[in-house]
Amino acid sequence: MNLQCVNCGHDIGKLFVQYSPGNIRLMKCENCNAVADPYIECEFMILLIDLILHKTKAYRHLLYNMFSLEVNNIKGMMWKFNLAYIFLDAYMISVLRTSKDDWDSSGSLLLPVLTCLKVLIDVLLGNFIAVSVVLVGTKVLLTSTFNIMRYKEILLALLISSYFKLFLIATMVWEFPSSVFFIIDVFVLSSNAVALRVMTRLRTSRCVAVCFAAHSAKFLVTDFLMPLFSISF
Ligand SMILES: [Zn+2]
Repeated sequence: MNLQCVNCGHDIGKLFVQYSPGNIRLMKCENCNAVADPYIECEFMILLIDLILHKTKAYRHLLYNMFSLEVNNIKGMMWKFNLAYIFLDAYMISVLRTSKDDWDSSGSLLLPVLTCLKVLIDVLLGNFIAVSVVLVGTKVLLTSTFNIMRYKEILLALLISSYFKLFLIATMVWEFPSSVFFIIDVFVLSSNAVALRVMTRLRTSRCVAVCFAAHSAKFLVTDFLMPLFSISF
């Protein structure tokens, strides 16, 4: 992926020139004549606030200029994100099922192990379905401009833009109503849609539709279909 101007999305060779340590000059974009990426000099909190506000500029900085496929350890980072999200998803499902008394404490020691296994299978299957729906939906909408590199870029965009799941860690420390899980899920959906729009330049409505379909499919699998199959388990 090329570096991009966060204002207009125009490709740019370099974002700044460094004269000496701590002494840099930000480059201007040839297309819009604005500073290409002012976030380079901003505090992380400002970037985080703009991400929470779903500003396209912040997502361009995050996806194109901060994390790009040229980063050496990008695969390692993607795996860490994946494992963290799988763990957090499993935690969310476990908490929701506990509230439904799904975790029966009576019986043998084998039951909690089997329940954990069931939750893990639900999470993996649900995420696989969601990612598949996004990739297929994007492929259909982009048609000719879709190739294997786009798969990697879109996977990276989905992983990074799901950062709001990390707020689930707060629910491990403090008590929240279960509606917080729904709010986090809706936020992740809208964040995924903005990242998909930045990455593919599709219309907002199409990106929202693709992400909504993906999250609905995941919900259908993990909260409806899989519990139905586990009745006989
Ligand atoms: Zn520009």
